[in-house]
This record gives sequence, structure tokens and C-alpha cells, in this order.
Amino acid sequence: MSTRRKSIVAGNWKMNLDAAKARSLTEAIAAGAKQTGSVDLVLCPPALYATTVAAALGLAAGVAPSGVALGGQNAHDKESGAFTGEVAPGMLRDIGSRYCILGHSERRTLFGETDATVNAKVKAVLAAGLTPIVCVGESLAERESGRTEAVVTEQVLGSLAGIPADDLATIVVAYEPVWAIGTGKVATPQQAQDVHALVRALLGRLSSPTVADTIRIQYGGSVKPDNAAELAACPDIDGALVGGASLKADDFLAIAKAFG
Ligand code: PEP
Repeated sequence: MSTRRKSIVAGNWKMNLDAAKARSLTEAIAAGAKQTGSVDLVLCPPALYATTVAAALGLAAGVAPSGVALGGQNAHDKESGAFTGEVAPGMLRDIGSRYCILGHSERRTLFGETDATVNAKVKAVLAAGLTPIVCVGESLAERESGRTEAVVTEQVLGSLAGIPADDLATIVVAYEPVWAIGTGKVATPQQAQDVHALVRALLGRLSSPTVADTIRIQYGGSVKPDNAAELAACPDIDGALVGGASLKADDFLAIAKAFG
């Protein structure tokens, strides 16, 4: 964690919960948010429950009294049109979202998203006034064959191609080794820090080292209350993207506190 960058901890609820549970989880997190210190908190519920979460956060009034922000899990790259089942970035914005996760490994592996797809979505999400949380990360086979650096380099440069430095300065990148997502196998702090330093160097190539120094890079992959502090201590880890542990208010708040 750097003193130059405010950490950001986001919960990716994936396709879990129902409306009542989404509301009560939001209320519990909002109630505890003030005790987490200096950290930005983001909740990314299933799209169908985004308005439920927005209401529970008090976003309907335009301001979130708890300071907890709302985010999407995915968005289409077009503003509107005949795209059955999809959600436009402007719709997320319309209901009070400030962030949107893009290029999550589940989107890449299960829904065929490529760096080009992610790149188009990053541009659309930025155009709608949202902050993209752009996910990158290698599979187990890629790590074991020594390809982590090559894979992450291709994903960062491809997903963020053609984004002006001013916009790059506002984005969030999430390094999520695929082998650590939902498996309980967290990357060691050194493994994570090494890739975070690589990502920051790549962001510097795309903009400048000065801009790259301001961009927040989250770690994601089996982050829990008992491993968050050692990750938070790494100089280039500026927060966490949390899956499973974000479904329990106490765990999510404890992780946030480790970064706060
Ligand atoms: C994720 O899906 O982004 C994630 C990091 O999941 P988990 O925390 O459950 O590994």
C-alpha cells in the first residue's frame, strides 16, 4: 500500500444472493464502513439488484452517506440498442454506479471475452463517466510454464490500448491470478507484488511513470481477513477485488480495514 494512493476494496458478488440478502448485506457493510479507515469501498452486485443496493446505500438521494460506492460486474460496449440481455454503461451510471468491473477471468473464460472486447468496454465505460476496474491475470498452466509476465503484459497492453493518459490516470486495474480465484490458494505477497510492479511499469509505458504512480492496482484471488494485511503491506498493492469473502459483511469489512 502506498501513501500516495488511497486503497480501494471492491466486492464482486457475482451471481449470488437474493434481493433481501443483497439489502441486508449492503446495510451491514454501510453501517461498518466508517470504521474501516481511509479506503474506498465498492459493492458490485448482480445487475438486477443494483437498484436495491443503490437504495440501501441511499444513492437515490445522489449522495452515499456511508461513502460506499456502487459498481457493475460487466457492461456492454454500446450505449443502447438491440442487445438482448445486456446492460449499457449509461444504465449503470443512471442508477448511481461509479465503477464497473471489466474483463473478469470468468468473463474471459466462460463468455469468450478477449482483450479487444475488454478494450471496447473500457472505452465505453469511461465515456459513460464510470471508472473501469480492469481485470488481468494468468491461469495455472500459464504460471507453471513461466508465461505469467508475457500473458499479463499482453492483457494490460491489449485491454488498455488507445486510452489517453488522462483517462488511464482514473482507472483501476485488478491483478487476479486465475488459479487463486475461488480456490483458497492466495498468491504469496511476493508473487503478487512482482506482478503488480510489472503492471505499473506497463501502465507507465502506456502513459508515463508519473501517471502510472497514481493508478490503483488491486489484488484479487482468495483474499480473506487473515491474508489481507500481508498483501496490503506490499508497496504496489492498492486494495483488493474480493469474491467469496465479500458476501460476509464482517469479512469484507475486516479486509477493508487491513487496507484502510
Ligand atoms: C473474484 O472473483 O474476483 C475473486 C477474487 O474471487 P475470490 O475472492 O472468491 O477468490
